Amino acid sequence: MAKIHELSNLLANQIAAGEVIERPASVVKELVENAIDAKASQIHVLVEDGGKKLIRVVDNGQGIEQEDIPLAFVRHATSKISNRHDLFQILSLGFRGEALPSIAAVADVTLASRAQDEDQGLTYQVKGGEVIGSQAANGRLGTSVSVRDLFYNTPARLKYLKSKSTELAKIVENINHLALAYPEIAFHLAHNGQVLFQSAGKGNLQQVIANIYGRDVAQKMRSITGQSEHFKIDGWISRPDLTRSSRDYLTVLVNHRFVKNFSITNAVVQGYGSKLMVGRFPVGVINVELDPLLVDVNVHPQKSEIRLAEEGELTQLVTQAVRDILGEENLIPDALENL
Ligand code: ADP
Ligand code: MG
Repeated sequence: MAKIHELSNLLANQIAAGEVIERPASVVKELVENAIDAKASQIHVLVEDGGKKLIRVVDNGQGIEQEDIPLAFVRHATSKISNRHDLFQILSLGFRGEALPSIAAVADVTLASRAQDEDQGLTYQVKGGEVIGSQAANGRLGTSVSVRDLFYNTPARLKYLKSKSTELAKIVENINHLALAYPEIAFHLAHNGQVLFQSAGKGNLQQVIANIYGRDVAQKMRSITGQSEHFKIDGWISRPDLTRSSRDYLTVLVNHRFVKNFSITNAVVQGYGSKLMVGRFPVGVINVELDPLLVDVNVHPQKSEIRLAEEGELTQLVTQAVRDILGEENLIPDALENL
């Protein structure tokens, strides 16, 4: 019988990477979420070859203190939660302390950071889980993380990646969701030197919608709000004459986190009732705010699925808010809907 032994850190990180880091877009999401958690107001994302060659995220956030930088690459090391109590009230996007060590296990990562209260920063390189170098640097305030040659040491993963343009499309999608969730942050995305997306960071959600879907779409949106015992919602939804053939244009954000939640998108669709043709879906963004105690984000390593308490109350609130605003429009009078 083989002896039981503990896996090396590197192997454990590679296993975690398999869950957290599926493709270049997952790297972008994790790095940008770290920048958001660090209170950045500007986030630049630079990508080469669909993210396969290089992903660089530069922020003007709080930075990491020099002595903490090596720890940022240790699994389950985080500055965001510290006790059991925190786990049930998560306000940050990250908390698992898994992203950086996972990425560094399967790529060549260089992190440079200078913290607010330090005059010197540090550049730190980890490749395939091994520390390659560390050097004092007089960088600007904030953090930049460059990820090169993702999956260079995991050939199966590398092979599973799609074409550069498909991988890039997934990156753009993630950046769009993050920009919709944080209109007060200025995002900038460039691919092979070409600017693909920019948001102004002025806090205007309708403007971000215009940046993503175009002015004409943004002009055909109506703002919705609503409140119930446990939830507050707000956002923008399209007039019934502006639809798409998939639900993907309906973004649901729960406490500023993009989530995939069928019940909530379905509640929006229900609100349109017969104003929507079969197989057509509205464009929209719904922000849901609730006490973090009522939502479990620790369901999946990528954190895009959640469990909500009082879901029925929320779906009712959403459907009603949509109905109210479309009722005011009276665009397509529908006697049945007005019952
Ligand atoms: P998590 O976000 O779950 O804490 P990560 O592996 O993504 O785990 O990051 C580890 C730690 O590194 C974070 O808790 C944070 O303290 C620090 N960190 C990572 N990226 C940044 C950044 N852009 N700005 C400031 N601190 C960062
Ligand atoms: Mg993180």
